[in-house]
Amino acid sequence: MKAIVSLNSGSSSIKFALYALDGGTPHLSAGGKIDAIGIAPHLLASTNDGKILLDRDWPNGEAMTHAELLENLFQWSAEHLDGCEILGIGHRVVHGGTKFAEPRLVDENLLEELQTLCPLAPLHQPHNLAAIRAIRLLQPDLPQVACFDTAFHHGKPDLASRLALPRSLHEQGIRRYGFHGLSYEHIACQLREVDSSLAHGRVIAAHLGNGASLCAMQGGRSVDTTMGFTALDGLMMGTRSGSIDPGVILHLQNQMGMSASEVEQLLYRQSGLLGVSGISGDMRTLSDSPAPEAKEAIALFTWYAAREAGGLVSSLGGLDGLVFTAGIGENNANVRSRICRRLEWLGLAIDERANTANEAIISAPDSRVKILVIPANEERMIASHTLQFVGNQCP
Ligand code: ADP
Repeated sequence: MKAIVSLNSGSSSIKFALYALDGGTPHLSAGGKIDAIGIAPHLLASTNDGKILLDRDWPNGEAMTHAELLENLFQWSAEHLDGCEILGIGHRVVHGGTKFAEPRLVDENLLEELQTLCPLAPLHQPHNLAAIRAIRLLQPDLPQVACFDTAFHHGKPDLASRLALPRSLHEQGIRRYGFHGLSYEHIACQLREVDSSLAHGRVIAAHLGNGASLCAMQGGRSVDTTMGFTALDGLMMGTRSGSIDPGVILHLQNQMGMSASEVEQLLYRQSGLLGVSGISGDMRTLSDSPAPEAKEAIALFTWYAAREAGGLVSSLGGLDGLVFTAGIGENNANVRSRICRRLEWLGLAIDERANTANEAIISAPDSRVKILVIPANEERMIASHTLQFVGNQCP
């Protein structure tokens, strides 16, 4: 069997998916995750139909690096995925900067260029690149492809890329990039399959996971998005603040004496649902909690999402469809319902029965705006991009 691997390497987890190539078309055959990296790493891999292939713990593995864990994963796959020939590995790379609007085959020059973008995404980019480097050491001849989360937003209008700062800063790369691009690209592809007229229309895609953003798409292309210079902008998230008056940051530093790294920690790790509830950054935990602080955090999350969606409707000049995706967007009917009800004035009418049943179409038949739920699948997008580079090796 020939296969392609999609890899999403973050600070505390590495997600992987193995796509078998039957007649050249990738289909998911197995996948899994190494999580709790830096604490007590745990590796779980299973087949597409749920059979556990590997379940391994490193209880004293707090010092294990991403590279060591990847080496373990490679060793295991060489021993157990008998007859499986990996043609290439595709990586989610958070930042492609101003230059990379398409996936790229990795070489040393590309890695050096991507390394210079680490200051723009300090919590994500170094881990993405570390995984690529680790695999280059393990298997130097294996083709690797970098797929950028910023790429989908590349063609958006210049105005939607600008911050109201001096021009020279824009030239230095301080601009609104946008993220979650692989997820939005997948939504655009799926829309073309399930509803081609909507695919040509004005759509807001809501990627609501631990990280959360909205993308305004017209004809399947990004025209605006809520994340900007970093993945901190826009919606309130699990532990990130989202958009915030920049004066708050000045106040924290100048009046309250916080250092830059303390502010960074506050905005990325201690804010959002976690900060407001004081309980958890996980929507499931908050949904199960009777505490008023949990209810307030959920209310604020949906308030911000609807408020930002209203802004994107202005960028689109109207709205034909709203698509929910990612952990919260796919599974939390209450959050979807609250966001949609706040947007009723736009002509959205949610079908609460379909919504509670997590159906694919959750708008009422008379809704002027269609409301859909489409499961996120960035890995699939990465695999198909990677196939473009190694496709000539397919059977
Ligand atoms: P990430 O951005 O890390 O990929 P996910 O897309 O997995 O995140 O989303 C994580 C969020 O989705 C968490 O807040 C979690 O509580 C929520 N979530 C995941 N599954 C469910 C579910 N079945 N029901 C309700 N919430 C869920």
